[in-house]
Amino acid sequence: MQKFDVDLFVIGAGSGGVRAARIAANHGAKVKVAEEFRVGGTCVIRGCVPKKLFVYAARFAHEFADAAGFGWTVEGTRFDWPTLIANKDKEIARLEGAYGTNLDRSGVEVVRQRAVVEEPNVVRLADGTRVSARIILIATGGHPNLGLDMPGRELAITSNEIFNLARLPEAIVIQGAGYIALEFASLLAGLGAKVTVVHRGDKLLRGFDEEIRTRLAEELAQRGIDFAFGASIDGIYAEGGRKRVRLNDGSDLFADEVMLAIGRTPNTTGLGLDKVGVHLTENGAITVDDTGRTNVPSIYAVGDVTDRVNLTPVAIREGHAFADSVFGGRPWSVNYDVIPTAVFTEPEIGTVGLTEEQARAQGRRLDIYKTDFRPLKATLSGSQSRTFMKLIVDQKDDRVIGMHLVGEAAGEMTQLAAVAMNVGATKADFDRTMALHPSSAEELVTLR
Ligand code: FAD
Ligand code: NDP
Repeated sequence: MQKFDVDLFVIGAGSGGVRAARIAANHGAKVKVAEEFRVGGTCVIRGCVPKKLFVYAARFAHEFADAAGFGWTVEGTRFDWPTLIANKDKEIARLEGAYGTNLDRSGVEVVRQRAVVEEPNVVRLADGTRVSARIILIATGGHPNLGLDMPGRELAITSNEIFNLARLPEAIVIQGAGYIALEFASLLAGLGAKVTVVHRGDKLLRGFDEEIRTRLAEELAQRGIDFAFGASIDGIYAEGGRKRVRLNDGSDLFADEVMLAIGRTPNTTGLGLDKVGVHLTENGAITVDDTGRTNVPSIYAVGDVTDRVNLTPVAIREGHAFADSVFGGRPWSVNYDVIPTAVFTEPEIGTVGLTEEQARAQGRRLDIYKTDFRPLKATLSGSQSRTFMKLIVDQKDDRVIGMHLVGEAAGEMTQLAAVAMNVGATKADFDRTMALHPSSAEELVTLR
C-alpha cells in the first residue's frame, strides 16, 4: 500500500475543519491542519462569537430604557467602544487558545500557514513544503463579497473590519438586507450609531417567511433605523474626514463608515483545485455528495466552501459526519431538513422548517396559527415592541412543519422547538404540552 505523510490533511481550522480534524484523530488517524489566519475560523474570530458579544452590548441600551417603568433610576450611563473591543479581543484570544489546545490534545498538528492542493494526494504549504495525505479535506470557508467595482470601493469596510474599528461610527451606511447587514444595523443602532440600510430589493431577509420580513422592517424602523429600498451605492467619496455615499438615484448620504454586507463567496481561488480537476459551481463552491466527497476520490470538502447552508453548527456536523464516515467506519450524513436559525437583531428572529410560501409551493394544504402580543415585560417598561409567532401545520398529518418568531428570546425558543419538530411533533402534541407560565414560549402550546 502507498505510504503517505499523514492520513488526513485539513486545509482551514474553522468550525468544520477543527471538528473533522479532532474526530478523525480520535479515530486513530494521523492528522495535520493548516490555518493561514487564526485558529477558530470565521465564527470564533470574526463571526458568530464577537457578533453575539456586540449584540449583548447593544441590548443594555434597551434594558436601561425599560428599567424606569420598574422603578429604577438609571443615571450616567455611558458606552465606551474601546472597552468593548479590548474585552472582546481578550475573549477571542482565549477561545483561539482553547481551540489550539484541544487540537494539540487530540494529537492534531497545526501548521500556521497557507496550504494549497498540489496533486490529488499532495498539499503544498506557503513555505514550499509538500505533505502527502491519503485524504485531503478542504474547509476553507468564505469571504465577504465586495460587489462590482465603483469609485471609492476601497473606502468601504466589511464584517471583517467592523470588529476592530478604532471608534464607534456616529453614522453608518450598510448595504444589504441579509443576516449580517441587519444584525449589524440593529446592534450599531443600539450602541448609538445612526444607521441607514441600503437595499436593492423592497424587503429584508430574502427566503424568510413573508410576515417575518414585513414585521422586522417595521420593528427596525420603529427603533430609528432608516431604509433606502430599491437602491444601490454608486460611489463613495472621502470628504472632510467623512464619507459621501452616492446612491443610484443621484442622492447622497453622509456617514463615518460604509459597510458592504452583500453575501459571501467560497474560498476556492488559488487553492489549486483546477490542477486536480475538482468540480466547482458557478459561484466557486466545491461540489460534494452527501458524504462531503468531491469528484476526486481523495478530496473532500465541508462547511461554507461548499455553500450549502452557511451556518456554524452545519459546518461542524458536516465535519463530524465526514470524520466518522471516512476514519471511524461509521458512515452517516447530515440531515438538512430541520435547521433552526436565528437573526440576532433587536427584536430577534427565530425560524425553523418551511416558510408558509415554501410549504404552499410544495402543494401542501396548511393550517396556519398565529399570535401577535405585547409581552408582559412591555406593560411596565412601556416598550412598543411586540412578539409575533407563527406555526405552519400540514393538514395531511397535523405535523408542525414550520415555526417563525419575532421577539425576545426567539432564538432560544426556536432551538427547543426544533427538537420537537425533529421527532415529527404534531399540533396536537404541542397542544398536549403543559404551558409554562408566565412566559412568551407558552403561547406556542396554546395557539388556537
Ligand atoms: P470558516 O470558519 O470560515 O473557517 C475557514 C478557515 O480556513 C479560516 O480560518 C481561514 O483563515 C482558513 N483558510 C482559508 N483558506 C486557507 C488556506 N488556503 N490555507 C490555510 N487556511 C485557510 N453562523 C451561525 O451559525 N451563527 C451566527 O450567529 C453566525 N454569525 C456570523 C456572523 C458573521 C459576521 C459571519 C461572517 C458569519 C457568521 N456565521 C454565523 C456563519 C459562520 O461563521 C460560518 O458558517 C462558519 O464559520 C463556517 O465554518 P467553516 O469551517 O466552513 O469556515
Ligand atoms: P445573505 O445572503 O444573508 O444576504 C446578502 C444580502 O446582500 C441580501 O440582502 C442580498 O439581496 C444582498 N446582495 C447580494 N448581492 C448584492 C449585490 N451585488 N448588490 C447589492 N446587494 C446584494 O449574506 P450575508 O453576507 O448577510 O451573510 C452570509 C451568510 O452568513 C448568511 O447567509 C448566513 O448563512 C451566515 N450568517 C449567519 C448568521 C446567523 O446565523 N445569525 C449571522 C451572519 C451570517 P437580495 O435579497 O436581493 O438577494
